[in-house]
Amino acid sequence: MNAIEKPDTLVQHLYAFIDDTLSRCTRCGKCFEACPMTRYAEGLSAADPKAVVSGVLDWLQQKSGNEDSVKWLKVCTQSSRCIEACPEGINAMKMVRVAQMSALGSLGAPAVLKSREEKDFFRKINAFSETQLSADEMDRWQR
Ligand code: SF4
Repeated sequence: MNAIEKPDTLVQHLYAFIDDTLSRCTRCGKCFEACPMTRYAEGLSAADPKAVVSGVLDWLQQKSGNEDSVKWLKVCTQSSRCIEACPEGINAMKMVRVAQMSALGSLGAPAVLKSREEKDFFRKINAFSETQLSADEMDRWQR
């Protein structure tokens, strides 16, 4: 990863995931193509899958991704179809989750999603944490 400061917290877990995803993702777009939710965001189903994924990867690098990538972050309901679709074995649902965190300003990029407007966001993060983090990480996360 670049020169972004990596705080000594469980956030390191996320940075390790980001590094791994950036090194292995081929931007093929199959995760986006498998998503059953794209039809529920205006214009998203017609978007270029590779471009949308590139936008998500921008968010992972704490850069502002393209507009269609934001639409995808907003419409995700954790179907997990993207995980099954990835030929590289990347947890694309987690990729979207971490990108959401970046879009909310939690990783350093300017916030473009407002958590108060995303009423289910914290429920989603809790669910995400429970399925992805160890008990020790969960304990530290909830302090
Ligand atoms: S399917 Fe996997 S390799 Fe292809 S764009 Fe999505 S995360 Fe990257």
